[in-house]
Amino acid sequence: MQGTLITSIDELPPLLRASVSPEEAEYLETIQLQGLLPFRVTPHFASLAGTTQDDPIRRQFFPDPREAWDDPFGLSDPLGEALYRTVPRLVHQYRDRALLLAGGICAGYCRYCFRRVWIAQSQEFISETEVSQVLGYLKNHAEIRELLISGGDPLTGTDEKLAWLFRELRSLKPTLLLRLCTRTPITNPYRLTPELIGLLKASRPLRMVVHLNHPREMAEQTKKALADCLDAGIPIHVQTVLLRGVNDDAEILALLFRECLELGLSPYYLFQLDLAPGTAHFRVPLKQGLALYQKLKTQISGLGLPKYTVDLPGGGGKISLHDSVIIGTQDDPRGKVYVLCDHDGKRWTYPVE
Ligand code: SF4
Repeated sequence: MQGTLITSIDELPPLLRASVSPEEAEYLETIQLQGLLPFRVTPHFASLAGTTQDDPIRRQFFPDPREAWDDPFGLSDPLGEALYRTVPRLVHQYRDRALLLAGGICAGYCRYCFRRVWIAQSQEFISETEVSQVLGYLKNHAEIRELLISGGDPLTGTDEKLAWLFRELRSLKPTLLLRLCTRTPITNPYRLTPELIGLLKASRPLRMVVHLNHPREMAEQTKKALADCLDAGIPIHVQTVLLRGVNDDAEILALLFRECLELGLSPYYLFQLDLAPGTAHFRVPLKQGLALYQKLKTQISGLGLPKYTVDLPGGGGKISLHDSVIIGTQDDPRGKVYVLCDHDGKRWTYPVE
């Protein structure tokens, strides 16, 4: 990390500090008092931000009083992960792959985070006991061929802890594909040291999935860190969250995905926002997202086009979004909703607005 983490207004660079409104400062106190998702940003990511409240980088990390809006659709576990949690740190929802919640914190916190309730509880890096439970489960489930390593951000663990975790997994299943989900190359590219990249290289088969939302996140340090990983033979995929006021513009997204292709990264998912509490002001209406995606298709080649996808609220899993997935609307006690039909013909709902 270059510089120490910023967790208060006083630690912000002067121009950003001056941009904080009294309402924002008051809300920051509220989240501290109520134990909500903390304010935390790396000096690197803060340095990319502009000083207006609608700046797309600033919006992603600075707490917004609109988080306190009462959103009737907000779910503390928007993906329904608790339904599939087999042991405390493992979620097994899809037959051949599982999700390991390895890291409990992130280098910086995204205000739209879908796992914000879990993260606000400041989980530690996975313990020996928890790893034993995970290994016990994996041993009895030969069908699991791929393990998503997420959290929090696993790269907040030390090299020693990561090396130990990868070693334990490899000794049980030498061919297990590790899918390392991280935002660290964007928020703290200095973490990708030659030592860490060497460790990732030695832990292959391993692919990195980087969470990247806006072309301005492609700083020179980030590009270098990602290029070094690619040079080490680590394939990199990109997942992007569609965010109102950040990247809800086909031209911005086309620019982002073109840059990804130029660097050798593969755009993978464009996610419709999950229904985490306090994030409604980031939600792009589904119909608007579909129209934006149609426009995006005309602007970039298929190689650079991620799959526009929603994780069905409440544990339905991922489905690709297109017009025919929406089979109607209905009134719900929480407001108007779309009715979506999954691959098995099962119906799910998602808010219209
Ligand atoms: S990096 Fe991922 S897990 Fe961490 S705060 Fe952002 S969205 Fe949440």
